[in-house]
Amino acid sequence: GPRSTELLERQATRESNARTYPRHLPIAIAEAAGSFVRDVDGNVFIDFLAGAGVLSLGHNHPELVGAATEQLSVLTHGLDFPTPAKDAFIEAQLSMLPATMRDRMKIHFCGPTGTNAVDAAIKLCKTATGRGDIISFQGGFHGSGAVGMALTGLVVQKEPVRNGLPGVHFFPYSYCSRCPLGLTRETCSTNCATYLEHSLKDDLGGIPLPAAVIIELVQGEGGAIPATIEFAQRVREVTRELGIPLIVDEVQTGCGRSGTWFSFEQYGIEPDVIVASKALSGMGLPIALIFYDKELDVWAPGAHTGTFRGNQLAFVTGVEAVKIFKRDDVLGNVVRRSEQCLGLLAPLQRHPWVREIRGKGLLLGIELVHPSSGLPAGELAAEVQTQALSRGLILELGGRGGCVVRLLPPLNVTEEIMEAACRILVDCIDQLES
Ligand code: PMP
Repeated sequence: GPRSTELLERQATRESNARTYPRHLPIAIAEAAGSFVRDVDGNVFIDFLAGAGVLSLGHNHPELVGAATEQLSVLTHGLDFPTPAKDAFIEAQLSMLPATMRDRMKIHFCGPTGTNAVDAAIKLCKTATGRGDIISFQGGFHGSGAVGMALTGLVVQKEPVRNGLPGVHFFPYSYCSRCPLGLTRETCSTNCATYLEHSLKDDLGGIPLPAAVIIELVQGEGGAIPATIEFAQRVREVTRELGIPLIVDEVQTGCGRSGTWFSFEQYGIEPDVIVASKALSGMGLPIALIFYDKELDVWAPGAHTGTFRGNQLAFVTGVEAVKIFKRDDVLGNVVRRSEQCLGLLAPLQRHPWVREIRGKGLLLGIELVHPSSGLPAGELAAEVQTQALSRGLILELGGRGGCVVRLLPPLNVTEEIMEAACRILVDCIDQLES
């Protein structure tokens, strides 16, 4: 609409070109509520981007708004002093850990973004082990700073900082539908992990023992790719055997998005360090933290500081969000809406340009390919995104060449809204010409 266009043009000259979302989603947002966004021209959209997975309870959840509003005149910034709001937040977060982990984990608050928390996790593991190298996986995403980018296995995105952090070794992820060895899930169970194990144990051709292994159990930016259970379990066994801390990056998968509070719960593994951020506050207030095993706690006082580590508004809304998850069985909704969505999208499998429909919980994606070559078809995905927007649905892209149409709805999305969104999506993908 004209008012969106005006704002987009004004910002095009005054704000950095590096902005991502307005390139494919040319709207200016006026307001939002629940799973809906209204642009400045009055058009209403179903929001299946949800602040890049941040708005787990949708926009402006009334109870979270209430908690934040009350706290606003009590205390907003607390540095890293103890406060009642922080205490309640820590209690709520620890209560979401599996019972077997509650007593052995502690929390460190980091600067406000996922990138900051990944940074802290790496620094902690380097300090604790006295080792330098890190192992990361192809296709993973771990942040936009120098460390996060260096750990990121999406080559195009990290190009500008590729020399940022020496000593990051990349290993293949269990991305079975694009296996470089041409194997399938049926013909291979743990070859990627066996390769990792071999590289760590081979004293001639191998790599030095690293300070940590960092992994997303469902790659988000990489294109909604869940690790196989066998692969994840083998990685855990090998890292445990060799005394390598395992960091699970739950920035995107965490706080319920995968269908359990933490994605690792579905893998039968326990990490040594967990990175969390995005949806911790339930409503997009910046906050990030790591949970880590007390055995790694070698940090001296002041070893890792930061100004923005005490967002009291995020603490109180985060406590409220956990209460709502428990009271309203939001995780149950994630599982039901996920099944509903996969069921509604299943007919798309008949198209030669649909490679795979996959994900966990409400971190889902549809990979589009050129039927003749099987190569990623980013332009088809972009076409779907544009068509969906014109029909009132906001979607994000990810994966190789942006070929994966990603769905990241609020976790309390209703059955009706899910149905409406899937109808739009199915129509848009049906209409593609390969
Ligand atoms: N890790 C993962 C898995 C992520 O998805 C992201 C953000 N997309 C980050 C880290 C970085 O978080 P932030 O953008 O808040 O720095």
